[in-house]
Parts: sequence; C-alpha cells; structure tokens
Amino acid sequence: MNEVTEAMHGFAEWYGRQPIGVWSAPGRVNLIGEHTDYNDGFVFPFAIDQRTAVALGDRDDRVIRVASGFAPDAVEIHLEELAPDAISGWSAYPLGVAWALGELGADLEHVRGVDLYVASSVPVGAGLSSSAAIESAVALALDEHWGLGFDRPTLAKVGQLAENRVVGAPTGIMDQSASLLGEADGGVFLDCRSLDADVIPLGFTADGLSLLVIDTKVEHAHASGGYAARRASCEAGARAMGVESLRDVRHDDLGRAAELLDDETFRRVRHVVTEDQRVLDTVRTLREQGPGAIGPFLDASHVSMRDDFEISVPELDLAVATAQAHGAIGARMTGGGFGGSAIALMIDDLVPVVTREVLAAFAERGYREPSVFVVHPSQGARRDA
Ligand code: ADP
Ligand code: MG
Repeated sequence: MNEVTEAMHGFAEWYGRQPIGVWSAPGRVNLIGEHTDYNDGFVFPFAIDQRTAVALGDRDDRVIRVASGFAPDAVEIHLEELAPDAISGWSAYPLGVAWALGELGADLEHVRGVDLYVASSVPVGAGLSSSAAIESAVALALDEHWGLGFDRPTLAKVGQLAENRVVGAPTGIMDQSASLLGEADGGVFLDCRSLDADVIPLGFTADGLSLLVIDTKVEHAHASGGYAARRASCEAGARAMGVESLRDVRHDDLGRAAELLDDETFRRVRHVVTEDQRVLDTVRTLREQGPGAIGPFLDASHVSMRDDFEISVPELDLAVATAQAHGAIGARMTGGGFGGSAIALMIDDLVPVVTREVLAAFAERGYREPSVFVVHPSQGARRDA
C-alpha cells in the first residue's frame, strides 16, 4: 500500500466517510549546496520518490481537524483560533500551514473547515525533509480546495513561514522549493536570493547511475543548537565583511576574510563561499558533461562540511569514505548535519557492493545499522486522487 491509498484508508477509518481528494508532496535530497540557503546563495536539491499524502474531506463548520498515522490523536482547532501559540507538536506543521496561508494573504474568513489525514513514506528525522513534505502536501491541498490560487513559489514561502514561526525552526526555503518545484529526473537549481528556480535534467537513469542514501539514524541532541550557531557565525562573518549576506563575498575576497575574521568564523565563511561555487560548478558540469562528471564537487563539499563548517559526525564520514573507497563517483553528507543521511552517486551495478560494504563498516565499528536505499528524482507536489 503506498502513501496515497494509506491516506484514503486512514481517512475513511478515522472520519467514517470517503475523502474528496488526496494530494501528496515528496521529501528531498540536497545534491549540493549546504547551509547556503539562509546566506542568500545557491542550492541544488531534488524531490525524491518517498512522499507524504494528505486526504481531505470538507466540513460544514469552521473547524480544521488533522490526524496522522504518525500520532495516536487527532488535533482540531477553530479557524478563528489559528495562531502560532495555539498550535504545537506534530500538528504545528499542517495547522501552521493553514495559519501561514492567511498570513500570506489568503482570505480565510470565508472558507469552511476541513478534515485531513496524513500518511507518509518519508523517513522522519533522516535529513530527507519529512517536514517540507507534510507542509507542501497540506499547502497544495488547502490552496486547491479553498481556491486560493497561490503559485508554487508562494506555497513554498507558506511552508517556510509555518516552520519558522509555528514549529519554531529557523530553516531556509530550500526544502519546500524542492518539494513543490521538483520534476521527474530533475534537480531544482534555486537562487535563494531572487528565488529564481530552474529545473535541470539530472540524467541519472539515462547514464546508468544511482543515487544511494545512507541514513545513519544518528540524531544529535545539539543539532538545532549547532544549526543556530552556524547561522550566527555566518551573520557575524557577513557583518564583519560589510556585506548583506555571504552571497556577496566572492572567492577573491577570501584573503581579506582570512585577515579580518577569527579562524573559526573564517572557516565557516569559506565553507559557504566555496559551496556556492560548487553548486554553480555542479550545474555547469552537469549541463556540459553529464552526471558522471560531478563527483569531485560532491567529495569537496563533504570535506568542506567536515573540516570548515564542522557539521559532520563520524558515522557520516564513514558512510562517505566507504562509498568512495568502493567506487562511488562522489559522496557527501546531506542536510543540516550533526547526523541524518549521506548520499553517494555511483553506477547502478555498484549499489549492492556499496550497500554491503557500508553495512559491514558500520557493524565493524559497532555503529547502529544504517538504512541504505536508492532514491529517484521525482515529481513535486501534486493531486493524486
Ligand atoms: P526531517 O524534516 O528531517 O524529517 P524534522 O524534525 O524537520 O525532520 O521534521 C519531522 C517532524 O515533522 C516530525 O517530528 C513530525 O512532527 C512532523 N511530521 C513529519 N511527517 C509527518 C507525518 N507523516 N505525520 C505527522 N507529522 C509528521
Ligand atoms: Mg525538516
């Protein structure tokens, strides 16, 4: 049973009637461009084939109710009462989206309530953005059901606003953009300053390549603290360099940065500046030479995150090193860091070998068994039924 049928079944079981529609949105893998989004830089993620589905039914009153296979209880709230402080727990994601639609200009005074049921195949907390998947699915479902007519870039902002203000996570716009704008076989090349997005063919399948995800299952308690500290370093670096954001620091300015900044701040800045360049190089190389040639940028990105930005963990380093040692074209940790997943690009035939070797390497170190699986660049949010 996939997430769409699961959502329909769950809805019928929970609410005792059939839904009037089902929408879904994918998780994402960031191919390259880490911690660049909140620095107004470039990112290059793609939507994956793991999705979160939302079944929707209408109501006669102004109550909005959400249930999920993820949690035992349904949560309901009157549309008038929607406010960041009034919503918490997992329901902050779907109900936060309803609130954020209003914040971005939807007239919610004249809409009726809805019942929602959420089902998902996106692993939670693995760095594949189950949060953006649920936000984007709910945003598209409510937009279409309520006839709001928001475009997808605006729906991405809705999800981000929900996550920033209601969930309370200071994340950028990348995840929601990938989930809403992704296409089969396409990467979303996003300029986080202008919000211009270009879908670039990845050509993995045509070239016989697979993208393997290694979910280390490591989740560090200081992940959110570490994320906030990195953001603060980036802001301090930009201030000291006299620019609005690190997007404005060019490669040639790094010498001046080294003189101006303390060593730690300099290394944070250097990661962001070089990572922006690696995104541009990856996109250009993909266009000119195809996906088999992008490996060095993935590898260099990992080194930069490990040594300059210091957001890797031993499990991620081991996953990357093992994949590289057994023939991967390129590999890196992906997502915010301090745990989560690594990715490795390789020819299809190597998938069983690398999987086996990664599992063996983790077992040998006594690390928790990782989850290793192939993801396919997939279509973004859509209506399924
Ligand atoms: P990630 O986005 O890396 O998976 P996050 O901590 O950002 O991890 O988001 C995970 C949270 O999103 C979960 O703890 C839960 O609150 C919410 N969530 C994700 N998927 C679902 C779902 N299918 N049903 C209910 N809540 C979900
Ligand atoms: Mg998330």
